[in-house]
Amino acid sequence: MRILVVEDEADLRRQLGDALTHAGYAVDLAADGEEGHFLGDTEPYDAVILDLGLPKMDGVSILERWRGDGHIFPVMILTARDRWSEKVAGFDAGADDYVTKPFYTEEVLARLRALLRRASGHAVAAIDVGALRLDTRAARATINGDPIKLTAHEYKVLAYLIHHQGRVVPRTELVEHIYDQDFDRDSNTIEVFIGRLRKKIGGDRIETERGLGYRLVTPEAEQNRVSG
Ligand code: CA
Repeated sequence: MRILVVEDEADLRRQLGDALTHAGYAVDLAADGEEGHFLGDTEPYDAVILDLGLPKMDGVSILERWRGDGHIFPVMILTARDRWSEKVAGFDAGADDYVTKPFYTEEVLARLRALLRRASGHAVAAIDVGALRLDTRAARATINGDPIKLTAHEYKVLAYLIHHQGRVVPRTELVEHIYDQDFDRDSNTIEVFIGRLRKKIGGDRIETERGLGYRLVTPEAEQNRVSG
């Protein structure tokens, strides 16, 4: 999952960036409103953390433009403690959640997990696909309760497929959601990650739809396959 952080305070930006990277997300950082707006407009983020007081373009204006242009990614706004009217303006502009400064990073991460899983139709922090479980709190996966040893990139691929289980995910989409903007992207490596994941979780759990992409097989689909 790929996250955009728009925050002009350098320390806070770095702190959020580090925490998100550590939690297994691909992260892009923007230091002012114009850059933030541009990135959100042109890159496919799974969620955005948006400060409201920003140089060049304020957070509410950015959000209004994104929503006006049809971008539906979840947005969490960061607001100062005494600015209740900012929160109202933020929600009215299309925000999904807010965190008041100063905040605990753990709270931001927990709220982000909730936004991401809600956006993909899941209600709890552990997402199951048959015997396979993604624990989004610990950023790890288990199979029949046993931890699966994954590299950071393998985790990112698996987490994205699990959030979008049952749907064919094109290879280009995977590339866009597991790498940050500055990463030297190579879509051929996706095939390598998928190959390694198949070895670790069982070869038939990830189907290749030739020319289209990859699908994480849901238990229901597996049932149909066995009986049909
Ligand atoms: Ca600010």
